[in-house]
Parts: sequence; C-alpha cells; structure tokens
Amino acid sequence: MKILTLDLETSPNLAHVWGLWNQNVGINQLLESGEVICFAAKWYDSKDVKFFSSHEHGKAAMVNAAHELLEQADTVVHFNGQRFDIPHLNREFLEAGLAPPAPFAQVDLLKVVKKQFRFPSNKLDYVVQKLGIGKKTAHTGHQLWVDCLSGDEKAWRLMQKYNCQDVKVTESLYDYLLPWIPTHPNHKLYDGPDEQVCPNCGSEALKKEGRAYTSVSVFQRYRCEGCGKWSRGNKRIDSSEIITVK
Ligand SMILES: [Zn+2]
Repeated sequence: MKILTLDLETSPNLAHVWGLWNQNVGINQLLESGEVICFAAKWYDSKDVKFFSSHEHGKAAMVNAAHELLEQADTVVHFNGQRFDIPHLNREFLEAGLAPPAPFAQVDLLKVVKKQFRFPSNKLDYVVQKLGIGKKTAHTGHQLWVDCLSGDEKAWRLMQKYNCQDVKVTESLYDYLLPWIPTHPNHKLYDGPDEQVCPNCGSEALKKEGRAYTSVSVFQRYRCEGCGKWSRGNKRIDSSEIITVK
C-alpha cells in the first residue's frame, strides 16, 4: 500500500473591508482569492519530505506535482485534510483544467482524534506534544504569510521548514494512532500476500486471541503484535442455524 502523508498552506483571501468586527464581505469586495501556496508530502517508506511552492517552482508545476503524487497514492494521511487540504487541491486541479487524480483512500487523523478520544484541544500541535511525539515548528504567525507573499526568501525557508515539519509530525501521529484508526484501508487487499496480515499496519505478527461475536456469527479474533490493532477473520466459525428475533 502506497501511503502518502500530505499537508499544504494557503494564502489568505484579500478584501476591502469597512470595519474589523463581524464583517460580511461581498464578492465585489474580494481583491484576491486565497490559493495553495505550497505543500509538503512524504511517502511512508521514504525519509525524504518533498516540498513544492508557487514561489520556487511556479503555480502550475506545484499543482501538477501534487496531482502526480496523489495519482500514485493508495492512501493519503492528513490532519483535517478531508475538509481542508484535499478540497483546496481539488479546486486547484479544476482551475488548472486537470481531471481528478486516480481515487485514493483517506485517513484523516483529526477525525480519528475527535472520534476516539477526548482531548481538551484537538489541534495537531497540542495532541502531538501531549503524546510526546513531536511539535510543530514555531513561526512568526500571520507575519510569515505576509513576508512569504512579498517574496522574502528567509520567510520562505521558514515556511518550508514549518510545512515539512507538519508532515513529519502528522506521520508520527499516524504511527502512534494506528491501532486506534477504526476504518483503515485493509493492507491485505493492497499488499496481497497469502499470509494473514493486520489490516491497519500490514504486520504478519497476528496472534489468535479470543473470538469476535455478532448477533448471528462467531469469528476468530486477532491481536496484532506489531501495532496492537484488534481484528477478526471473515469466516464464520459456527455456521449452524441460529434463530434471531426480527
Ligand atoms: Zn498492526
């Protein structure tokens, strides 16, 4: 399974506003629309973090690079990417006249964090620091975007560092949360070995441990000694007729 971790940054919308509080900005007040200015991406089996920006590579080359990477990915890992990163990229593909990339599965770690746990904050930086598995790169806040948009090379170096670090901590969080991901694409289907493997991490170190019960069936239950995920076989152990209440 080819797993790509991805994170992108956008520019803010630029608009004429008549006040600071509670503004309702009309389209005719919009001077420039926000767009993707850079992205970082990392294949799970590679140490290399790729970075593309409109500043360094040009808008078209950056958008094409994102499209090519998504084309090759079976699964894309991100943090809030289902609402943010992927729709932003889709808009860029549409505006560039590109067809949709080949379909890929998504693992949105924000959704996993919200569904499985109750942290006081679901922000990526809070969660990874709380778990002791990394932290985001500190930066100059909104000023970093202002400096990058004015073409400041030093600011762009910091943006690259920030964006790449986001991808690294997102991948670290993915590793940490693996056994907690409820609907991970099943490694068995992608990697196709004869052996039984853990659906979440692909490890063959599966230990038979107990049985899994539904209202009508019993299945072999497994615990992964690689990541800790519980899974079950899909062959019924007892296939005798069972009467259930409808
Ligand atoms: Zn596993």
